[in-house]
Amino acid sequence: MLTLNDDERALKEGVESFAEGELRPQIKPFVDAHQFPEKLVAQFSALGFMGTAYEPEYDGGGLGARGSAIVAESLSVIEPGFAAIYLCNSAPMTVISRYGSPELKREWLAPLCRGEMIASFGVTEPHGGSDVASIKTRAVDDGNCWVLNGSKVFSTNAGTPLHGLSTVVAVTDPDKGPKGLSTFVVPVGTEGFRVGKAGHKTGWRIAPSVELFFEDCRIPKRFLVGELGDGLKQILTTLSLGRILVAAAALGLSRKAFNLARDYGRGRTVGGRPIFDNQGLTFPLADAMTQIHAAELMIRNAACLADAGKPFRTESSMAKLFASELAGRVADTAVQVHGGYGMFEEYEVSGLLGEAKVLQIVEGTSEVQRLLIARELTAS
Ligand SMILES: Cc1cc2nc3c(=O)[nH]c(=O)nc-3n(C[C@H](O)[C@H](O)[C@H](O)COP(=O)(O)OP(=O)(O)OC[C@H]3O[C@@H](n4cnc5c(N)ncnc54)[C@H](O)[C@@H]3O)c2cc1C
Repeated sequence: MLTLNDDERALKEGVESFAEGELRPQIKPFVDAHQFPEKLVAQFSALGFMGTAYEPEYDGGGLGARGSAIVAESLSVIEPGFAAIYLCNSAPMTVISRYGSPELKREWLAPLCRGEMIASFGVTEPHGGSDVASIKTRAVDDGNCWVLNGSKVFSTNAGTPLHGLSTVVAVTDPDKGPKGLSTFVVPVGTEGFRVGKAGHKTGWRIAPSVELFFEDCRIPKRFLVGELGDGLKQILTTLSLGRILVAAAALGLSRKAFNLARDYGRGRTVGGRPIFDNQGLTFPLADAMTQIHAAELMIRNAACLADAGKPFRTESSMAKLFASELAGRVADTAVQVHGGYGMFEEYEVSGLLGEAKVLQIVEGTSEVQRLLIARELTAS
């Protein structure tokens, strides 16, 4: 199952070459300054990697969830925040690709695949992201347009110089509850669409996560994505696919933490003895090696199911839960192996716990994944 086909191997080599050749030598000042690396993102996008998963007829790479998991993992091994920019761009692309009309895809998916702009996903609202059905942002049909009012939080990639659009979920029929939600494309520059300021986060430092505001924001009717009232269905599928990418980013982060721990531990002696003579340090790394392999299998399995059009939601939740919690454990072990040095920002390992924590929250927290998996117990 882990054997890559020729296209996947070429993709992996291409992304790794960008990550090693461009990201590794250039990214640290951006991370330290919490700054979006505009030129690097533009360079990566121009290589066509943003479109890896999507239809070739809209200038995508046609490699589905398996391909995009390879991209997310390979970026995260070098810089988890860069993987964040990729996977947060993928969510709005997925919703347009899966549900948009051919016209909408030509207008928005194709330029996103070609890397001419990036997008942000607008689902979470200030009063609680874990219950996506409780969205309050309102879209009213005024005959010619949809008129949006409301706000979103944590919308990653928005407000950057490359930001071209957000996909936004809003209530179109308050009487229908979860069946009254719909998704819209809102292009940057639309009157009444405003983006807030980015705060400093302890993970995903180069990927700004900001508020979106809609004040009598009028958008053309054709920017409705798919069918009216299908918003919740669209979010659930998009989030399930997104969780495969978050899991893959967590796998990349686990590998990064493992490599740093291994390299430091091999060279460190204390009192004249190598620290790796102590099984207290090597056993957690043996567990990490084992569980990294398990995570890789789970992610590949979920991606294969998704690409084959088979049910994959529970597998994607399990992969996301397992891989993101694993990333936290391996990051913790890696800091411990470094002793006091692991607490200093000069050491790359010091920031990895924050990176792992983000992955346990985005696209549904660990608790939400457990709720979704546990639902299988009661499903008839
Ligand atoms: C860095 C970052 C980037 C993000 N990017 C985006 C983005 O691009 N687009 C977007 O739309 N959103 C984005 N999000 C939002 C993210 O998906 C939400 O933060 C997440 O879904 C949790 O929602 P919340 O923060 O409102 O927490 P809450 O929903 O308030 O949850 C708080 C705590 O309560 C727990 N909890 C809530 N309900 C239950 C329950 N029923 N059972 C058990 N425990 C429960 C949660 O697990 C959590 O621990 C981002 C978040 C972060 C941190």
